Amino acid sequence: MSDCIFCRIAAGELGSPVYRDQRVIVIDDINPQAPVHMLVIPIEHLPDARSLTDPDLLAHVFSVGHRMAAERQLDGGYRMVFNTGPMAGQTVFHVHLHVLGGRQMGWPPG
Ligand code: AMP
Ligand code: ZN
Repeated sequence: MSDCIFCRIAAGELGSPVYRDQRVIVIDDINPQAPVHMLVIPIEHLPDARSLTDPDLLAHVFSVGHRMAAERQLDGGYRMVFNTGPMAGQTVFHVHLHVLGGRQMGWPPG
């Protein structure tokens, strides 16, 4: 999808992923909400987490997220979240897992 920003990043047209394999890329969020704020993005265009039905891909997304969190030394903890749909604050409709850490998190989220 040429009008999708994350498809363009995955295609290498824009940005510089900090990790890439055959199924996902990881980027640093352009508007970080914590000292570490990464996005794990499946290369395949799927609009949101409801469409991420392949259990292997879903597990891989989480696995890469945990690995990247360890690489960034988020040993005290971190938060992983899929905003799913406009009411949850989703703004980019290409599924992505947020990985946030490096500060004390509050609950409930806003
Ligand atoms: P969401 O609101 O859950 O859909 O998250 C979308 C995230 O993508 C936001 O945190 C944005 O800051 C981030 N974002 C949007 N465009 C870019 C970009 N070009 N590079 C990196 N992050 C981006
Ligand atoms: Zn896309």
